[in-house]
Amino acid sequence: MSNFSTKYIFVTGGVTSSLGKGIIAASLGKLLSARGYKVTIQKLDPYINIDPGTMNPYEHGECYVTTDGAETDLDLGHYERFLANKTSQANNVTTGSIYQTVIEKERKGDYLGKTVQIIPHITDEIKRRIKILGDTNNFDFVITEIGGTVGDIESLPYIEAVRQIKWELQNSALYIHLTLVPYLSAAGELKTKPTQHSVKTLLESGIQPDILVCRTEHPLTENIKQKIALFCNVEKDAVIESIDAKTIYEVPLLMQKENLDKVVLRKLNLDDNSDVKLDKWKDFLFKLKNPNQEVNIGLVGKYIKLKDSYKSICEAFIHASTEKKCKVNIKWINAGSLTEKTIKEELDNLNGILVAPGFGDRGIEGKINAIKYVRENKIPFLGICLGMQCAVIEYARNILNMPGANSTEMKPNTKFPVIDIMEEQKEITNKGGTMRLGAYNCTLDKDSFSYNSYKTLKIEERHRHRYEFNNKYLNDFTKAGMQCVGNNPENNLVEIVEISSHPWFVGVQFHPEYSSTVLNPHPLFSGFIEACISNK
Ligand code: GLN
Repeated sequence: MSNFSTKYIFVTGGVTSSLGKGIIAASLGKLLSARGYKVTIQKLDPYINIDPGTMNPYEHGECYVTTDGAETDLDLGHYERFLANKTSQANNVTTGSIYQTVIEKERKGDYLGKTVQIIPHITDEIKRRIKILGDTNNFDFVITEIGGTVGDIESLPYIEAVRQIKWELQNSALYIHLTLVPYLSAAGELKTKPTQHSVKTLLESGIQPDILVCRTEHPLTENIKQKIALFCNVEKDAVIESIDAKTIYEVPLLMQKENLDKVVLRKLNLDDNSDVKLDKWKDFLFKLKNPNQEVNIGLVGKYIKLKDSYKSICEAFIHASTEKKCKVNIKWINAGSLTEKTIKEELDNLNGILVAPGFGDRGIEGKINAIKYVRENKIPFLGICLGMQCAVIEYARNILNMPGANSTEMKPNTKFPVIDIMEEQKEITNKGGTMRLGAYNCTLDKDSFSYNSYKTLKIEERHRHRYEFNNKYLNDFTKAGMQCVGNNPENNLVEIVEISSHPWFVGVQFHPEYSSTVLNPHPLFSGFIEACISNK
């Protein structure tokens, strides 16, 4: 939109963590982009890690990867899935990365002898990282989600930075605060006090929220809204109910019903009459709620106690299956406990198996056992990254007669290193941000399951790995029936392996799950679901 100065919306959270700030930010973004605005969403994370790439999934859930190779918070996955806009390095800022920049500048002498302090140097760097999205990409709206809970010591510099931004931009910025209105069953009442306290905490930092989004298990009565409005200095129609939803994909519509987008536009002095184009979204929701068949898919991984570890994979299943009016039931299978004895019982009755990405050798033999079973029993298989590497190892051991074949990640001195460290990775010792990351090209063979799904010869997919198929063995594999049907045209790295004599057996070195969105399910997930349906 021309002559439009970027508007900045800040989303904070109070009372408790896990209220779903990311989903509220993504839902508001969806509503604004459905009105034709160009929107991006950014996450500020208050931890000292430079990025979540070095964190265990049990600490932080899945690490999401952008096309430009940033290892980021999983909320960026929600932003992309809802908005279908790509995010980038700039969309995830951590305290570690802020300090790193400031300290590097200090070492270069950029502060000209000054004492370097949290205010103004850290806060200035935070402000720069927020504004950079509006300044360089012409976004109409930059929605910035501040991680953590208001009152946390570690998020104070972020709160101060966004206070200053609103002071500078005045009517071009606004604050949305997400809180919890708990229901006390003993009293039979919804309670507003935690919300009042959390707004007071924000006020102590100089921030008056413009809009309160109240998470609740029961509808907010007019009285409750009135009370929250009065005690928190917020207009009554800016007290937005956010009732628990059956699916996260319903939240944009719930927020629209509560007029969140209209209140936002009004408070930013913008016209709220524009059309909100959500037909396709509504169609998706209808199909999601009214499936006419089901498939059972096993997800073999080692972080199954925390479902967030495989967030994008689960969402990609939902996108692809919904398109086919099919419901996916995921059976979470702990790779560590899959032995030859338990395998039949564990994988029985499943219509397809996905073997998940991962690092290190824990659970790898279970993954290999699972792949042997699906290969021999002709069950559709999708292996992602380590899952693909395990398929190669299994084939080497059981078909190519290479006993003990392995990846050098698991066994550096294996006799048959069918998966080996990439040349450019050999000298790298730092762990953070040093893998092969982000989008790379891949060319497909026309005669393949993958081509049948993508229906195009040239694709681009995101990566996050250090090890690769060892091309020394390529001929052996091809002759024995496992083909490389996708490779990187620049350096010949194997990107996809398939077994064409199997009903559907695909292993990919990249991560298709990162680029699946609600309105554009990923072709490989669609192909896999189709194969699972046929296998019922
Ligand atoms: N650990 C393997 C590698 O680095 C696979 C990584 C992954 O599954 N993301 O190559």
